[in-house]
Amino acid sequence: MKKKLIAGNWKMNGGREANEALVRAIVAGLSAQASSCDAAVCVPAPYLAQVQALCQGSGLAWGAQDVSEHEQGAYTGEVSARMLRDFGTRYAIVGHSERRQYHGESDALVSHKARAALAQGITPIVCVGETLAEREAGQTEAVVKRQLAAVIHDNGHCISEIVVAYEPVWAIGTGKTATPEQAQQVHAVLRAQLKAATAHSDRICLLYGGSMNAANAASLLAQPDIDGGLIGGASLKAADFLQIIASARAA
Ligand code: PEP
Repeated sequence: MKKKLIAGNWKMNGGREANEALVRAIVAGLSAQASSCDAAVCVPAPYLAQVQALCQGSGLAWGAQDVSEHEQGAYTGEVSARMLRDFGTRYAIVGHSERRQYHGESDALVSHKARAALAQGITPIVCVGETLAEREAGQTEAVVKRQLAAVIHDNGHCISEIVVAYEPVWAIGTGKTATPEQAQQVHAVLRAQLKAATAHSDRICLLYGGSMNAANAASLLAQPDIDGGLIGGASLKAADFLQIIASARAA
């Protein structure tokens, strides 16, 4: 059976001291749990080396929050997948709504970033999700299918190696969570789309993200097509993050 995956997205938070305390507490908490769930933290790029040193040999993997679509060269400020690999990075979030919104990332760019990660053996966590206006206009399904289709189009041959995170934009950092039924409905649509794209769709983890926390994780993770979570705010508190992982193990 596929393991569930709980991935933290620290966003632009953290600092050397706080990171050390947080990661040490998560690693200690994980070693007390059986490893029937994968867990990771996606951290700001400057802290990858620190987090690598803290996590090495533990049950906690680490990832980046973005990756360049380019291999190398004159792209000031960008970080390549090869550089991420130098730090043992297992995951790279691509297409987070904050990057789509504040950095104008298009579906095409997101799919190229996923391709760049895959080429270096890094698992892209591909984020898709509708805004509130799109949901209210009845466009949820069309939006997430369009976003995922771009990634499938560019990466069809290795699409079973990706992770997909459904993150309704209106639920991210707002304290408003999709109901388990709303989330499951969209996950079922994404699952069907992946099934049509690859014979190995059952390997693909479909995460839910958007104000998932210690209190609501169990009901979301109990849904048949929710294979884990992408966790923002609650991943900055070790006890909450560990509780979400415990809920995933129990689901
Ligand atoms: C996220 O940043 O991916 C996220 C889901 O944030 P939050 O859990 O804070 O809503």
